[in-house]
Order: sequence, then structure tokens, then C-alpha cells
Amino acid sequence: MTYPPPDDRLRHLLAQEINTSVDTWKLAWSIAGGIVKDPEIRAELDRIAKAHSQGQPCGDRHCPHCFDAALTEADQ
Ligand SMILES: [Zn+2]
Repeated sequence: MTYPPPDDRLRHLLAQEINTSVDTWKLAWSIAGGIVKDPEIRAELDRIAKAHSQGQPCGDRHCPHCFDAALTEADQ
């Protein structure tokens, strides 16, 4: 049995993060469930992943992938 389970991985990862800021795992789990079901959030994750797979910056200011890429480019 692996953790997080592959078929519910995103929700578990979100709940772990949310759990550091809320009182109960139950609440964290509920919030995470809402996030994974949100079509707008899904679409944004897809958009970011697509931009990266094409070697494009996704434009998200919090994106560590693009932050690292910008640093690497500045070094050259
Ligand atoms: Zn990015």
C-alpha cells in the first residue's frame, strides 16, 4: 500500500498542506476535495502543465519551475 494512493494523490497532497493551517484533518480533507473537483482549478493546472511541456513559461508568479528556468537562463 503506497501513500498517497495513486488514484487519490492530488487530494491527499492538498489535504496534507491544508492540514498545517486548519484544526482538523477532516476539514483539510473536505477543502482538498473541493479543490480537486473545481473545473477552473483543473483547467489552470492543465494550462500550466501544457505550457511547461512546450517549454513555455506558464506566467504564474509562484511557479518554481519557471523561476528555476529564468535563473538558469540568466546564468548563460
Ligand atoms: Zn511555470
